[in-house]
Amino acid sequence: MRFVAAMTTHIAEQLTEIITCIRTAAEKAGRNPDEVKLIAVSKTFPPEAIAAAYACGQFRFGENRLQELEEKVKKLPETIEWHLIGHLQSNKAQRAVQLATYIHSVDSEKLLRRLDRLAMEAGKKPKILLEINISGEESKFGTTESDAVKLVQAALTCEHLELAGLMTMAPYEAPETALHNIFGGLRRLRDYLENHLQIKLPELSMGMSSDFEIAIQEGATFVRVGTAIFGKRTYNL
Ligand SMILES: *Cc1c(COP(=O)(O)O)cnc(C)c1O
Repeated sequence: MRFVAAMTTHIAEQLTEIITCIRTAAEKAGRNPDEVKLIAVSKTFPPEAIAAAYACGQFRFGENRLQELEEKVKKLPETIEWHLIGHLQSNKAQRAVQLATYIHSVDSEKLLRRLDRLAMEAGKKPKILLEINISGEESKFGTTESDAVKLVQAALTCEHLELAGLMTMAPYEAPETALHNIFGGLRRLRDYLENHLQIKLPELSMGMSSDFEIAIQEGATFVRVGTAIFGKRTYNL
């Protein structure tokens, strides 16, 4: 009991601090702070940790494993907005459609088609973000910039999916200039796609605990912050 109380206080303090940092970063960049939305990445942390953040008004949470998400959904308020942020395997697509309001990691036409069909069957219309590999790192998932046009065009034909925008991951501990290039690169790609295809891609999901301020400078509308709110994860995903 005492442990839970201490954890709750700690999370509340960290959350308040991160929200302040986000607003400050947005203002410094000459942006409206309300444009930047915080996704609290709660993977590996128990439902009590999520409940503690939720009690402070945080309602967007990010998870990267469907099974874990499913267990948490059962135990937590229905008003939570769940973001699936991890790489999605085709065989998990059905549960993703059932559970997530946003799916951040769509990176192939095959997955798009599957999600579209499953969404139709489930009577849902999930919001999706296309994951783009701006850094060109081999180990990362995501489509390449040159394939992005094709993937966006495919997404636009999926009637049961709402194309919300683009997402990227920067390499772990990349230097600051590289981070500016990657996050700025995603924004420029978004602008290009909007002009070239005459569409709107309102959301840019980029930035984590160590680099969200740079991402905000470069135009992030969703930042995905875990460690800085909940603490270090005891196992890595
Ligand atoms: C875990 C994770 C995050 C959060 O990372 P932190 O460094 O803990 O803030 C953000 N995005 C994705 C895709 C993740 O898997």
